[in-house]
Amino acid sequence: MPARVADAQGPERDRKAHARYLALNVVIGATAATARAMASGTSVRAALTRGLVGGSLMSAGMELVGTESANARIVGLQIASVGASVTRNADAGVPLFSDLTLPIYPLYVRVRPGASHPVTARLSLLSAVRLTRVLTREDRPDVDWRATLASGAPVLASSRWRLESRSCPPPCEGSFAQHNAGVIVYSASAGTDYDLRRTLAHETMHVVQHTRDAVLHAIPASDGMLQRGGRPGRLLSRFIVADLVLPMRLIDETESRLRGARARDSWYELEARAFAPGGELFR
Ligand SMILES: [Zn+2]
Repeated sequence: MPARVADAQGPERDRKAHARYLALNVVIGATAATARAMASGTSVRAALTRGLVGGSLMSAGMELVGTESANARIVGLQIASVGASVTRNADAGVPLFSDLTLPIYPLYVRVRPGASHPVTARLSLLSAVRLTRVLTREDRPDVDWRATLASGAPVLASSRWRLESRSCPPPCEGSFAQHNAGVIVYSASAGTDYDLRRTLAHETMHVVQHTRDAVLHAIPASDGMLQRGGRPGRLLSRFIVADLVLPMRLIDETESRLRGARARDSWYELEARAFAPGGELFR
């Protein structure tokens, strides 16, 4: 039923919104980098240039995910993450690509060319908790390995026709798919009343948003907190990221609540749909 699938998946992406969110990511890069330089007392102008590069890479990564091609998902996620890493490094006065975070959820792979251990990996606490919860819940979702490898994040197939969702409350039957903390779950009706590839592109956009927040905020906050915890803290920080400080996610949730907007009209949803409109149900 290709026609019905197309209907349920909604229209093509909104060109104006797309341009706006492309620009927003460049602004986020520039602002975050400048703020870090001001806080650390380094050159604001140099940080601004780096922030613009980082922000452009974040946009480019989202653009790739938005092509809806299966292999573009993991590549887009990594490019966006490199963009966020460059933005985060902007104040350090070190080479642009000297410390990169590449997510393969539930892990954050850290690449530091020239360091004594150039490639290390740490477990995301949030992602590990989420994955455990999803794997042990009642509908016992199965890991879709092919989709997982193509996404850089666990993708699980639920046995439920629709997933319970805040953004689609009754009488809506629920959503096709969901993302939380780098873990994607999709419902059993994939390929019948929705197109899985389009939907996975949309959910991967949410993974990118989560990663942007984690790389810019949660990982440095976790490192800072654990470094202050003496020897045990420093040891822990080699294996674990307590990725709990996610201000962009907080803004997304608080802002839409204050505005009285429906969950599907939140910043994250509008941004995700501006690049990848799949994954929603029109009624
Ligand atoms: Zn969404």
